Amino acid sequence: MSDLLNVADIFGEDVFNDTVMQARLPKKVYKDLKKTIEEGKELDLATADVIAHEMKEWAIEKGATHYTHWFQPLTGVTAEKHDSFISAPMGNGKVLMSFSGKELIKGEPDASSFPSGGLRATFEARGYTAWDCTSPAFVRHDAAGATLCIPTAFCSYTGEALDQKTPLLRSMEAVNIQSLRLIRLFGNTTSKKVTPSVGPEQEYFLVDAEKFQQRKDLIYTGRTLFGAMPPKGQELDDHYFGTIRQRIAGFMKDVNEQLWRVGVTAKTQHNEVAPAQHELAPIYAEANVAVDHNHVVMQTLKRVACQHGMKCLLHEKPFAGVNGSGKHNNWSLTTDDGKNLLDPGKTPHENIQFLLVLTCVLKAVDEHADLLRESASDPGNDHRLGANEAPPAIISVFLGEQLEDVLEQLISTGEATHSLKGGKLETGVRTLPDLAKDATDRNRTSPFAFTGNKFEFRMVGSRDSIAGPNVVLNTIVAEAFAEACDVLENAEDFGKAVHDLIKKYAVEHYRIVFNGNGYSDEWVAEAERRGLPNIRSMVEAIPALTTEKAVAMFEKFKVFTKAELESRAEIKYENYAKAINIEARTMIDMASKQFIPAVIKYTKELADTVIAVKEAGADASVQAELLGEISGLLGKTKQALSELIRLTDQAAAMKEGEEQARFYHFDVVPAMETLRAPVDRLEMIVDKDAWPMPSYGDLIFEI
Ligand code: ADP
Ligand code: MG
Repeated sequence: MSDLLNVADIFGEDVFNDTVMQARLPKKVYKDLKKTIEEGKELDLATADVIAHEMKEWAIEKGATHYTHWFQPLTGVTAEKHDSFISAPMGNGKVLMSFSGKELIKGEPDASSFPSGGLRATFEARGYTAWDCTSPAFVRHDAAGATLCIPTAFCSYTGEALDQKTPLLRSMEAVNIQSLRLIRLFGNTTSKKVTPSVGPEQEYFLVDAEKFQQRKDLIYTGRTLFGAMPPKGQELDDHYFGTIRQRIAGFMKDVNEQLWRVGVTAKTQHNEVAPAQHELAPIYAEANVAVDHNHVVMQTLKRVACQHGMKCLLHEKPFAGVNGSGKHNNWSLTTDDGKNLLDPGKTPHENIQFLLVLTCVLKAVDEHADLLRESASDPGNDHRLGANEAPPAIISVFLGEQLEDVLEQLISTGEATHSLKGGKLETGVRTLPDLAKDATDRNRTSPFAFTGNKFEFRMVGSRDSIAGPNVVLNTIVAEAFAEACDVLENAEDFGKAVHDLIKKYAVEHYRIVFNGNGYSDEWVAEAERRGLPNIRSMVEAIPALTTEKAVAMFEKFKVFTKAELESRAEIKYENYAKAINIEARTMIDMASKQFIPAVIKYTKELADTVIAVKEAGADASVQAELLGEISGLLGKTKQALSELIRLTDQAAAMKEGEEQARFYHFDVVPAMETLRAPVDRLEMIVDKDAWPMPSYGDLIFEI
């Protein structure tokens, strides 16, 4: 039957991948390109011309009419400008299809309308996109037809990064150089390259498109700004890993198929904790490919949801009162010959290279906890981090019993002599097989957890790019490796020096290790005693970008200049202010034009009822009491609305920057909550038929 799907057949069929390149490119051109991909060797224009031509021919066979330099400006979403392959009509009235090496390598989008944080004045419009040949081009099929998408980096005329990808590639280079230094010390002379591997787990919500369209808050802000909790939430834990409903299953099938075709290794899918919440995880890939693929995943989820009469919500907190969405960023370091630097082996206490890598990561995370925290902040994530929800805003590292025990041995006796073993899992049922048990349990509350052979950074927001967090991870670990290598390369007795260094790092940075419950109040107090930062909001996190230590590190490893960091901080303040401004104005709009008029109408009906019942000689006290209650809440709503209007106008009139962003956070956001409270109370007592939009229950249970 035509419905049968062979994943292996379709996987990567729309990708200009290694197999295609090998088959289509002349041998010498293929070799040169591989050199560029693997060793960063410069590509000459003649070679690029050949590649471009073949890429175009291939794309046209796939139905492509256009190509685009696909890039990631600092807007949070990807950008693209489409150019068709047609070139100047020939004498006979026909056109030629052409695509040159120059067009492949370099694009010139007008940069003046993208955020630059003062790096570039509006009149200095020139910006460049440059081909990232390490992330394969692909043909995307959508309503626009088929488009050849070429992953690119985006920078200004003067070379400053205006995007997420440029610093990511720079940080990958930094951690590559320092990792190679480190493994050479341990006698590895064969590996040529070390790359960060990244596997992001993407959470999202699905709601019915028709209901979505009735809510301005969802339309304009991606989250609900009002809404009372239904009688049932997520307390029964019956959604997590529950049977996937048919409507959702059909959606997931199409998502997977579309992702596989463009080479995204969609692997795992399941229902998440909250009703209507789901997750998709691919198999990990090289960091820049993983970042590109994550953007493809987010766009595909949105596109396919529309095709199924649904809307995909990627916001970190679409609904108050149920879990929000995040993106677990799994990270490790892999050599080109397949060795994972974070693999402890069976007996970690004997694996000195691993222990050095591990303690370097602890040092890096401890010294730059503020930067990691910042990298995960966006306006939506403020509702998760530090707001009594997973994960907490305090950065700590979960190592698990086995590694914690090894470190404790090191710290107390100066020597690690044994590793705890996992043993057998006994279920007490004879017919079940004996399972080998991991040496370490899991901890779901930790923001930064070691999970076997990788670290899982769980703070990242579901809507945010994972580029930022990986830039920070790569760079802080590069710095720790560099410092260790500086010491060890000059040591007379390597064995002793490395032992001493591991112990030193373990002792000095053990405060960042926490294996307990990260959600508890005790941990907040304990973390404060340990001197760990607890940064509660995005606006309070942004200053971490421009501290002396951050600037020194990013400049040393050539990831960001001071000017670039300052521009990023500025863009973040602006983005935050704009996001809250839109939310506040949407609330004002909904309250003024929808809730207040609906409630006024309802009170009139109630008042008429009270009179009619009284005239009929019956007891109208219930109706009258309800009328009183509703009128009281209506008064509160109107008052809170006026206050929110006043504060939002005041905020909008301020000069853009830190002070304005802080005003939005500390003054406008609380006023939004003050307006929400009486409206949500009203929703609970006003006739459902009189309420002007679908409720939480309608949205998350009736999909
Ligand atoms: P877990 O149950 O620990 O979350 P999964 O196997 O579900 O583990 O993996 C979650 C994500 O982590 C997936 O995207 C997976 O490919 C990725 N992952 C697995 N191993 C590594 C690794 N060594 N480095 C980076 N990511 C990894
Ligand atoms: Mg996981």
